[in-house]
Amino acid sequence: MAQLLIRDGYRAVKKPERASVLIVNTCGFIGSARDESLRELQKLADGKRDGQLLIAAGCLTQRYGADVARQVPGVDGILGTRRWMDILQVVRELRKTKHPEPLYHLPESATVGTDEAGTIRTSVFGGAAYLKIADGCRRPCAFCAIPLIKGTLVSRPLETILNEARRLRDMGVRELILIAQDTTDYGHDLGMKDGLAILLENLSTSVPDLDWIRVMYAYPGYVTDRLIDVMASSKQVLHYLDMPLQHAHPKTLYRMKRPSNMEWVHKTLEKMRAAMPQIAIRTTFIVGYPGETGEEFRALEDFVREIRFDRAGAFPFSFEPGTTSEPLGDPVPPEVKQERYERLMELQQNISLQVNQSYVGKTLDVLVEGYGDGLSIGRSYRDAPEIDGMVLMEGKAKVGEIVPVKITGAMVYDLAGVPESSLIVL
Ligand code: SF4
Repeated sequence: MAQLLIRDGYRAVKKPERASVLIVNTCGFIGSARDESLRELQKLADGKRDGQLLIAAGCLTQRYGADVARQVPGVDGILGTRRWMDILQVVRELRKTKHPEPLYHLPESATVGTDEAGTIRTSVFGGAAYLKIADGCRRPCAFCAIPLIKGTLVSRPLETILNEARRLRDMGVRELILIAQDTTDYGHDLGMKDGLAILLENLSTSVPDLDWIRVMYAYPGYVTDRLIDVMASSKQVLHYLDMPLQHAHPKTLYRMKRPSNMEWVHKTLEKMRAAMPQIAIRTTFIVGYPGETGEEFRALEDFVREIRFDRAGAFPFSFEPGTTSEPLGDPVPPEVKQERYERLMELQQNISLQVNQSYVGKTLDVLVEGYGDGLSIGRSYRDAPEIDGMVLMEGKAKVGEIVPVKITGAMVYDLAGVPESSLIVL
């Protein structure tokens, strides 16, 4: 949306009071995100001056457009997530005539990959860029509102993704981060089998000079042998995988309508570690899901203790109306959820620290992202942006460079080190 607006002559301003059009890209995934979106909209609506337009865009408005307009009376336009590329049309329409009622623009159809008004669907920061390969999801997870918001999986055509990867490479991007709600489902709607592995193979031949390719959000049960082979043999695909598992007790997983074959999980993790001994595995769990007994939660703790993930995040269950888990309600008391959340996070923090300590004395390539207070910061192959840790380095390194760093210290989330490269300006 920002790119389309800039191309049309708009520019970004730092302070909302200076803007003629205010756009909040809302999130409607879980309760706390919905509250935050509404708070931001309300804050901007309260400070709105004459002639300013306030547009609520994104997931929350796709699903609850009318509610958003009712709860925040100052909102002028409602734009959903499926036709974000119509932002200019919405702005023009709103500026043309006065609209006493909010203007709704909420088509149901998903058009990902086929009509994006020529925009590059990425955000670029430092030397890394997100590359969206598909949107929507066809999995049945009982707790999740995403399919209700985004609709079913729609993959971007292979050639569109490869073209975007080439363009990003030409812009100087060093790391491509492949994202979708479920990357392992890539290409299913295009009739592909093992679509993600095929995409990675194609990326390797189309942009062989791009340094790092990172895969996020794999769905258990769909990490195939071919995918593991491609990851293990490619020089570009990082030995990193984010595979949200959500739980480890088969009964909880069954109630979640998630793959509950824990044997598959164990075997696949073993295969990945055999093919890529230094692979960094990240996962996510939900605690306090309806019906989660003490025994089920302890099984999750045992699993976390056994597998020793590099990174694991946890979320207390958030009740989402309209999902298939709705009939189960939200029976686990908040204090029990909180206690389980804290126990799991504490357990994982100890594991993360020990895993991090095992890197002391080793050298890791680090993609530099910034500098401040005499330290440079960056990420190694073990760190996805925004959710994982950082590597803190002495001296000033050039943003966007990949430098070898000797690790000298470990914390729960981050590592510290000394650059070995002459690129560093001390
Ligand atoms: S795979 Fe992820 S996005 Fe899709 S329904 Fe399950 S939790 Fe939601």
